[in-house]
Amino acid sequence: MVVVLVEHSQGVFKKKSLEAVQYAAHVAQQMGTGVTAVAVGKVGDEAMQALGQYGAQKVLHTTDARLDDFNSRAYTKVVTAAAQKESAKVIVGLHDTTGRAVLPRVAARMQAGMVAGAVSYPDLSNGFVIKKNVFSGKAFAFVNISSDVKVIGLMPNSFPVVTGEGSATVEKLEVALTDADFSVQVKEVNKATGEIPLSEAELVVSGGRGMKGPENWYVLEALAKELGAATACSRPVADSHWRPHNEHVGQTGGTIRPNLYIAVGISGAIQHLAGVNGSKTIVVINKDPEAPFFKAADYGVLGEAMDIIPKLTEAVKKFKASQN
Ligand SMILES: Cc1cc2nc3c(=O)[nH]c(=O)nc-3n(C[C@H](O)[C@H](O)[C@H](O)COP(=O)(O)OP(=O)(O)OC[C@H]3O[C@@H](n4cnc5c(N)ncnc54)[C@H](O)[C@@H]3O)c2cc1C
Repeated sequence: MVVVLVEHSQGVFKKKSLEAVQYAAHVAQQMGTGVTAVAVGKVGDEAMQALGQYGAQKVLHTTDARLDDFNSRAYTKVVTAAAQKESAKVIVGLHDTTGRAVLPRVAARMQAGMVAGAVSYPDLSNGFVIKKNVFSGKAFAFVNISSDVKVIGLMPNSFPVVTGEGSATVEKLEVALTDADFSVQVKEVNKATGEIPLSEAELVVSGGRGMKGPENWYVLEALAKELGAATACSRPVADSHWRPHNEHVGQTGGTIRPNLYIAVGISGAIQHLAGVNGSKTIVVINKDPEAPFFKAADYGVLGEAMDIIPKLTEAVKKFKASQN
């Protein structure tokens, strides 16, 4: 059996988790077995049954008021219990904040080998070989997991999500959680309030240090609004508190794969590219013709951000008006 951890936000499964279920279903098919998803916390039956549309046959659900906030130890216990119950040979999760905290712990408990940041299905022709990004996406490594149980941390946005048909059965999974499992407690949760979640956005407008300061972000926000895009930023921008950390993309931030990524005043360091180079179309706006980002761009615009962005916004506005 392949077991997959699914993440939700207030009862709505995240797109990247639907991708993980679909990925797990593909692996299960390769291995001639089925998929059980593991859902934790408050989520409705209907949403869990709908995971069948992505290939899950069953969902094991553990609820406990203490699980309403993410807790890596408790989640580890739940996923390990689910994997043991299902005699799982493969455990799939995401290479994101949750998965990075939970999957290595599960791997240790299950004495399993693990690949973090997988970007391919396993090649079973000679072992269990999975491709992953290394050196911030500059190169790939092909890793063979030789242990009996295997753990895969899937890089989000590696595969497009396709909704199919089917309905999963839902079963309660009782796990004896103790106070020790909650020895680290969440005191406060600050949820991102953006209209379009960055990880799921098809269009993204992103700013770097070349924007000079937070007071100039209104031009990027106006463009994003006109396009119906989410906003993102480089790491120094988030570190300087110009923008919230949930907007930071790259090696140490989010990995996104939108149809269009517009990078304004971002140099294009490999650590930044690691999070965005899966974008379908990259547009770079930079005043330095030597900026490395131009090498990764499909379209490049050389010039001052504060000059070009308002013109681009106007052009989008006009184009939209002409379509009505
Ligand atoms: C271990 C590690 C992990 C890291 N993780 C990340 C990560 O996840 N994400 C990330 O982004 N970075 C990350 N970094 C930092 C990364 O190496 C770069 O320092 C960072 O991406 C640079 O940010 P920037 O492009 O916004 O700023 P800069 O490098 O300062 O570039 C600013 C750009 O703006 C251009 N510019 C300046 N003025 C204007 C203007 N008026 N109009 C148009 N263009 C203008 C400049 O020509 C320049 O290209 C990491 C670094 C390390 C060591």
